[in-house]
Amino acid sequence: SIPLGYFGGIGLASRNGILFKGSNFLDILTSIDMVIMDKTGTLTKGVFKVQEVVTADIDQQDLISLTAAIENNSTHPIAKAIVKYAERNIKILKAENVEEVAGHGLKGTVDGKVVLAGNTKLLRKDSISYPASVDELVDTVVVVAVNHEYAGYLTIADEIKEDAVTAIREMHDLGIQTVMLSGDKQAVVNKVAQMLSIDKAFGGLLPEGKVQHVQQFKDTGKRIAFVGDGVNDAPVVALADAGIAMGGLGSDATIETADIVIQNDQPSRIVTAIKAGKITKQVVW
Ligand code: ADP
Ligand code: MG
Repeated sequence: SIPLGYFGGIGLASRNGILFKGSNFLDILTSIDMVIMDKTGTLTKGVFKVQEVVTADIDQQDLISLTAAIENNSTHPIAKAIVKYAERNIKILKAENVEEVAGHGLKGTVDGKVVLAGNTKLLRKDSISYPASVDELVDTVVVVAVNHEYAGYLTIADEIKEDAVTAIREMHDLGIQTVMLSGDKQAVVNKVAQMLSIDKAFGGLLPEGKVQHVQQFKDTGKRIAFVGDGVNDAPVVALADAGIAMGGLGSDATIETADIVIQNDQPSRIVTAIKAGKITKQVVW
C-alpha cells in the first residue's frame, strides 16, 4: 500500500503547481544542504529593458541600428530587449554571417561593417580595447564594436522577482545554504546577491563553469538542489541531487531533464517543495 504521507506532501505540491517526477524526490528534498540557483529567469524576471545608450565615435541611432540588426538573429532575452527597443523608431536592417558565441554574444556583418555585440569577453577575444569604466558598471552591459573598434554600449536591466527575498530567507531558516551561479558579469551578480542576502555568488560563468561549481560542492559532500530555467542549465540540473526547473519561461531541455518542475516560476515554491518533502517524511516515518 502507498503510505498516507505521500498524499499529504504530493497534495501540497500539486496544489501549488509543483510537479514531482517520482515520489523519491520528495525524500531527497528533505536532506538538501544547499540550493544553487541560476540568476536570470530564476531569481530575476528574465525580462530585460534597455536603459541607457552610450556611444564613442558613432551616431547613437547608427549604434542602435547596427546592434539590433545582429541581435535580431538571437532568441536570448537580452537580444529580444534590444530589438524591441530599436523597433520603436528604427527599421531593423538585415545582417549576414551572424554567429552566436555562447555566453559571450554575437558577431555579424551589417551594411558591410563587422559588428560585435556582447559582453567584454567577446571584445577581448578579438583583442579589441574598450574604456576601463565599462568594467566598473554595475549593470548588465552589451558592448558594441564596429569594424574592430569599440563603438559604445547599451545597459540592460532586469528585475528581481517579488518573492525572491522571502524565498531565500526561508531557505536560510531551514538551515539551507544558498548559492547563485550566472553568466552575467560579477558586479551585477554581486548586487543581486546582496539584495537577496544569498550566501555565495559566482558570475561570468560559461555552462561548463556552472557544472564545475556544482561538482565542487558535491565533492565536499553537500546534498544539492539546483534551480534553473535556461537551455544552458540542463547539464547542472542533471548533476544535482534534485534538479528543479522553472516551468513558465523554461526551455524544453531543462524541463525534460528536471526531477521537479515549478510551473508558476515563483522562487517561494522551491521552499514549498522542500516543505512538501518534510510533511511527507513526518507522516510516513
Ligand atoms: P545566464 O543565463 O547565466 O545569464 P548566458 O550564458 O545566457 O547567461 O549569457 C551570459 C552573458 O553573455 C550575458 O550576460 C551577456 O553578457 C552575454 N550574451 C549572451 N548572449 C548575448 C546576446 N545575444 N547579446 C548580447 N549579449 C549576450
Ligand atoms: Mg540563463
